[in-house]
Amino acid sequence: MSGCIFCKIIEGKVPANIVYEDEMVVAFWDANPASPIHILIVPRKHVPTLNDIPDGDAILGHIGDVAKKLARDLGVADTGYRFFINVNRGGGQVVFHLHAHLVSGRDMGTKFIKAAIFLAVGWRKLLKKLGSNG
Ligand code: 5GP
Ligand code: ZN
Repeated sequence: MSGCIFCKIIEGKVPANIVYEDEMVVAFWDANPASPIHILIVPRKHVPTLNDIPDGDAILGHIGDVAKKLARDLGVADTGYRFFINVNRGGGQVVFHLHAHLVSGRDMGTKFIKAAIFLAVGWRKLLKKLGSNG
């Protein structure tokens, strides 16, 4: 559809960092990532919102399969990721060409905190030991 940014990316008229494509979808990195991993999985066919997908249409299952594959390829399938579709303005949708978000990497914060606690506890134990020896 003319004027649609995602149609332009799919047609190669606007550049994007494409990570996967097949006959049904194109997946590319989000230009304004909310997390270290933020990929959009977009059907080639211009459909404005999830509400416009007919019941039983194969596209949603296929988008899910592509998300699983990309999560595996990016090494976050087991650690975890978010997979969601914003629907209409009230649901946070800004681009009206259906797309699913694959987002991961927020657990970096908790990993850092866990490492800091581990180190702090280790130092306390070491200092206690040195104290009791001397
Ligand atoms: P929505 O809020 O509609 O579910 O998500 C739209 C997403 O598209 C946003 O995360 C936004 O950063 C991304 N986006 C908007 N325009 C472009 C663009 O031209 N290129 C890329 N790669 N992402 C875009
Ligand atoms: Zn479009």
